[in-house]
Amino acid sequence: MRYNGQMEHHKVIILGSGPAGLTAAVYASRASLNPLLLHGPLPGGQLTTTTDVENYPGFPEGIMGPDLMIAMENQAKRFGTIIKTEVVTEVSLSQSKKILKAGSKEYSCDALIIATGASAKLIGLPEEKELMGYGVSTCATCDGAFFRGKPMAVVGGGDSACEEASFLTKFGSKVYLIHRRDELRASKIMQDRVFKNEKIEMVWNATVTKINGSKESGVKSLTLSNGRELEVEALFVAIGHTPNTSLFKGSLDLDENGYIVPKTGSTHTNIEGVFACGDVQDHVYRQAITAAGSGCMAAIDAERWLAHGA
Ligand code: NAP
Repeated sequence: MRYNGQMEHHKVIILGSGPAGLTAAVYASRASLNPLLLHGPLPGGQLTTTTDVENYPGFPEGIMGPDLMIAMENQAKRFGTIIKTEVVTEVSLSQSKKILKAGSKEYSCDALIIATGASAKLIGLPEEKELMGYGVSTCATCDGAFFRGKPMAVVGGGDSACEEASFLTKFGSKVYLIHRRDELRASKIMQDRVFKNEKIEMVWNATVTKINGSKESGVKSLTLSNGRELEVEALFVAIGHTPNTSLFKGSLDLDENGYIVPKTGSTHTNIEGVFACGDVQDHVYRQAITAAGSGCMAAIDAERWLAHGA
């Protein structure tokens, strides 16, 4: 991509509309940087796939994830952030003007704030995608209640899988927790919670090799690598997340799992004028509040860099 001088230019472009991107937008717009925020077809990030958020400070009774994101968006717009739906398919970060291609449109900016988040990993079975939303899910809080009184399964062995399995026992007649090894990766407290729960049956040393069912019937059963067939009506995949960094491979420093590696204690990346915040650079905390905090840092870093470093 070459800058041809005719593209739409902004001082600051923010990619992503989760808590990190929207907090960066609030700060950047209050600093009179008139940011443009671009997001894909599902705005709001991962919080829009949850129900109650009970650990975001300031909401003693909790708040629904989508409501929190709408509030953040309105706050960003109030100070002048322009928000557009655009799927960015290519970026060029090597010149002083960063260039972003979205379909037939091109944008350029002096400072780019990346807040593209992370997506749930899938097992990789063909039926998994086909039956997503028809009994297969990556979000127990979103879909668990649809399977009230039914048997369900969770695959994974980390904190997410344990949390989801425990949560699903509120609805399910029984929850199988299928793990590929003979010990969980999850923290001790989460493991204890799972082991004490009479509705959870551990299925050790097994993987799901086939999801049986159809869009019409929903999920009917799972075939496991040990030959066992589990009759369940839902499968929740909780095997971790992948950072949304495919656009930046080859230009930004990424760790072995694909997360952006910012300079220690800041949101600066290895490229001048490019900043990263939220889950795209954080595989440890992964919380809405830490994402929002790093979004604030990214806007302040960008503002200072534009004032003194450009
Ligand atoms: P994780 O810790 O990376 O665990 C992923 C689990 O999925 C592992 O047990 C892994 O098995 C299994 N797995 C990975 N790929 C698989 C595959 N293809 N087929 C079958 N199993 C597969 O991910 P996470 O549970 O999402 O947690 C991520 C981070 O968020 C952690 O730091 C966690 O502590 C944090 N978190 C915290 C909380 C909380 O404190 N409330 C809740 C959720 C998450 P192996 O063990 O064999 O590798």
